[in-house]
Amino acid sequence: MKPDIMANPEKSGFEELVPSRYALRVGEIDVLVISDGVLPLPTETMATNVDPDVRAAWFKDMFVGPDMFDWALNVLVLRSGDKTILVDAGLGGQFPGFPRAGQFPRRLEAAGIDLASVTDIIITHMHMDHVGGLLVEDVKQRLRPDVRIHVTAAEVAFWRTPDFEQTAMPNPVPAVLRKTAAQFIEAYAANIRAFDAECEVAPGVVARLTGGHTPGHCVVHVASGGERLTFAGDALFPVGFDHPDWHNGFEHDPEESVRVRVRLLRDAAASGEYLVATHLPFPSVGRVAVDGDAFRWVASFWDF
Ligand SMILES: [Zn+2]
Repeated sequence: MKPDIMANPEKSGFEELVPSRYALRVGEIDVLVISDGVLPLPTETMATNVDPDVRAAWFKDMFVGPDMFDWALNVLVLRSGDKTILVDAGLGGQFPGFPRAGQFPRRLEAAGIDLASVTDIIITHMHMDHVGGLLVEDVKQRLRPDVRIHVTAAEVAFWRTPDFEQTAMPNPVPAVLRKTAAQFIEAYAANIRAFDAECEVAPGVVARLTGGHTPGHCVVHVASGGERLTFAGDALFPVGFDHPDWHNGFEHDPEESVRVRVRLLRDAAASGEYLVATHLPFPSVGRVAVDGDAFRWVASFWDF
């Protein structure tokens, strides 16, 4: 049982006990991970191509479940040169049933970052837990009218006629995803800067198309002063280190998602760079090691 102040921080009138933000530097670039909160998800969505007993055993070993678990939601803020870049925007507040998510606007403010100072936004993909925050009325009002939103052309094209054939999402998620993506495109049509394979948003900040999770999914590479960090978006989930070949119910192309995930994990293990991902437990800052046929998450030692 969590103390009331943590369950309802906005009602307490006090600072949150856990500020839910973590800062680090990659060379000359400031990186801030902000938790948008958590949302409960069925464990069965985390492995749709394995025996339920095998999946249940994995979650049991993690002391999580058995049926539901709290899905972390991380948002990234980068400062490079004169650019302030938001990477994804969390779930927002318009979806009933997820009272613990949608915290990013308040936590961004608590971190001293004004939404009006954001020059660029990178959207890894247009699922509602990544664009929902931009549909919050107050967020829309506070963003500058000329903010540039970088998203792949493949992602914009996909959501015109989205295909859920290979997904295994609980209802009514597909319908809500379609609606949210359409609302996002409509609200920000004038701001969207679609790119094909790669886009250098600021010095040392490059968004790169991977596909897989959605056909237009991208990751963000940060490099400065010989240091590197990759924000993996939804190419990687907590089960992905032990079982990179497990299909996730939210993946629109599960086979391609496995290829993307393995490539990303191999690259991160070889380079020793930081890896951050949307749905790894906050603060989601760590590195990857090779562990036999699979991988191992090596969480960073927190630096206060
Ligand atoms: Zn997601």
